[in-house]
Amino acid sequence: MPLFFPYYYDPYIIVVLPAILLAMYAQFKVQATFQRYLAVPAASGMTGAEVARELLRSQGLTSVRVEAIPGTLTDHYDPRDRTLRLSQQVFYGNSLAALGVAAHEAGHAIQHATDYVPLGVRTSLVPAANIGSQLGLPLALFGFFFQSGFMLQLGIVLFSAAVLFQLVTLPVEYNASARALSLLERQGILARQEIAGARAVLSAAALTYVAATLTAVLQLVRLLLLAGFLGRRDD
Ligand SMILES: [Zn+2]
Repeated sequence: MPLFFPYYYDPYIIVVLPAILLAMYAQFKVQATFQRYLAVPAASGMTGAEVARELLRSQGLTSVRVEAIPGTLTDHYDPRDRTLRLSQQVFYGNSLAALGVAAHEAGHAIQHATDYVPLGVRTSLVPAANIGSQLGLPLALFGFFFQSGFMLQLGIVLFSAAVLFQLVTLPVEYNASARALSLLERQGILARQEIAGARAVLSAAALTYVAATLTAVLQLVRLLLLAGFLGRRDD
């Protein structure tokens, strides 16, 4: 490392680059795959809302509400009020993309009802992860640029909670998709060849979570390298 590096030069930002590239690719992939299967109607003629309700009913979950919300790919399950919120294209749509996403969100509601452990861990990490993702990185970089080892380390500890949250998100997302695809087939909602389309949409969505996790992990590696760099400068 040349001695003339100014304090504000971060030589390790390059570490995060592969994750940024993967995130860009995943974003492109999920949009393209979603659009493609949005144009392929399912033979059943059921809408996303109907499929979500049917899958929930098949698991005895009649108290979970299913609502439409604005936006694209804004679909989610809210464990606080046990409500599935589906975007318009998914709620009213009957494409393979719509039914795949609706079933995935129903998968989260089923995880919640059956006390699937990673979902519980993920939910309990939300407050710490919010603080960590908003404050951790700025605080750590502030500490680095202003040569404060304490602030850098505090930022790293806070940011670690956000990394942990991303790591726990992965099994939760993969498991919701696995439940979705198996239920769609078992309940006879999608034929075998239709399942492939729904699976392609959910795999592309999963890749965005992999990219987000890799980004968080590599940011943490970058901060740890900066901490070592700062430590050496203090000698
Ligand atoms: Zn999900």
